[in-house]
Amino acid sequence: MKVIMLGAPGAGKGTQAIKIADKYGIPHISTGDIFRYNIKNNTELGKKAKTYMDQGKLVPDELTCDLLLDRVAKDDCKNGYILDGYPRTIPQAEVLEKALNEKGDSIDFAINVNVPDDNIVNRMSGRRTCPQCGETYHIVYNAPKKEDVCDKCGSALIQRDDDKPETVQKRLAVYHEQTEPLVEYYKNKGKYKEVDGTKSMDDVFSDICAILG
Ligand code: ADP
Ligand code: AMP
Repeated sequence: MKVIMLGAPGAGKGTQAIKIADKYGIPHISTGDIFRYNIKNNTELGKKAKTYMDQGKLVPDELTCDLLLDRVAKDDCKNGYILDGYPRTIPQAEVLEKALNEKGDSIDFAINVNVPDDNIVNRMSGRRTCPQCGETYHIVYNAPKKEDVCDKCGSALIQRDDDKPETVQKRLAVYHEQTEPLVEYYKNKGKYKEVDGTKSMDDVFSDICAILG
């Protein structure tokens, strides 16, 4: 099964993708996580990506598409995968579609986690992440047991640089301009599904499972 999570930054794509990956036994692939891993390890890719991410902009397609294609070509992806944060532009969607078509393959669903902008600002400003294991929390909706400490690995939680209020507005604008057109793109392909992302995490997950079967 090959699934794409669509939605604004902070809509809950990652939260749901982790649960889906666990239930269906397929890898969760987040391009944002891959970039953050490269930034942490100070790689050339990380240095380049950081300049865009810090400004709330998208990393250019030239740096993103090959990286994604390499990742989905890995052995663990042979039974499918769930993409979280890719594609974010029409050209990225076309690159993926072409690569899959060449193998007589295609994605199964593009699921949009739909959340209005007002809730998004609230979600992103309250998000805390573990720099060590990548677990995501929210200070109100999904608080860690001990304040600012990761339940899973005990590391100190951080607020992502790009979740600071000044960057959040920019990322939302970029989403509407460059990523939202993917809704029409996948509607035209007959792959589009939508869930109400304002519901509780468990209810959103049930709605997604009902689609995936
Ligand atoms: P994305 O991957 O789309 O950027 P995340 O999954 O990281 O978004 O979620 C953004 C923030 O919102 C996180 O702090 C997360 O804990 C919280 N969150 C996710 N889903 C819900 C939900 N259904 N209700 C309330 N908060 C949520
Ligand atoms: P995310 O973790 O998905 O919220 O992504 C964090 C940031 O990484 C985004 O704001 C972009 O700067 C960058 N990024 C992640 N995925 C992509 C992508 N598919 N295309 C371009 N930039 C991306």
